[in-house]
Amino acid sequence: MKLTIAHLYPKQLNIYGDQGNIKALSHRSKLRGIQLTIKKIGLNDQLKPGSFDLLFSGGGQDRHQLIVAKDLQTKKKILTKAVEKNIPMLTICGSYQLFGQFFKPFKGEKLKGINIFNAYTVASKKRKIGNVLINSSQVKPKTVIGFENHSGNTFLNNQSQSFGTVKYGHGNNDQDNTEGCLVNNCLGCYLHGSLLPKNPHLTDWLLKKALENKYSSVKLKPLVDKLEWQAHHAAIKRTKKINNPLLKWFI
Ligand code: GLN
Repeated sequence: MKLTIAHLYPKQLNIYGDQGNIKALSHRSKLRGIQLTIKKIGLNDQLKPGSFDLLFSGGGQDRHQLIVAKDLQTKKKILTKAVEKNIPMLTICGSYQLFGQFFKPFKGEKLKGINIFNAYTVASKKRKIGNVLINSSQVKPKTVIGFENHSGNTFLNNQSQSFGTVKYGHGNNDQDNTEGCLVNNCLGCYLHGSLLPKNPHLTDWLLKKALENKYSSVKLKPLVDKLEWQAHHAAIKRTKKINNPLLKWFI
């Protein structure tokens, strides 16, 4: 089986190790004999309809978002169609914000988003930094662990589906306990880390959705991934410790 991943703005949107997500997708595909092609889509590069089975876009500082925002508008139509066709996507932090209605940074103009997510983001004085543990009904086990660093507070408009509920950390806006947003198979979230290497079940969620779209029903061969799960549980344990007022002094 073959899959093509479109990687949006790899030069501009790649902070906190987000490239690691591509490595995790490649690793778990290779072990299953899935031939993966990665297409880097930069500024002014054409994104052709039907040319990708999965899409990834990472995080970026405000200034990087300013650089890509206008170009992203030129890709809005194709991306909207792809979401309607259930193409799986993972958009993180800066990209997540630009896939919404708008991102209003502290300084400068409001950056128009492409309205995939019925949500908007406004920069806040309080940066949200640290490990985030959420529960998501999309994956089994339901725990998803990552790292966040954002000033933006993202608010989901009514009817929007969040990706999960925050157990530890800040999430979308540190107020309503939501983290991320999900439209069809397009996932936006604040989880850097990089996210996928220590959430193998989420990596497989993306691969499975892409394969099902292309080849109908698919059963993914289970992998020997003890290390990934050790990383998952170690990060959860550390997050719980850091958030435990008594224990955090002994870390
Ligand atoms: N610049 C945006 C913010 O601070 C996104 C940051 C990021 O991608 N980590 O909210």
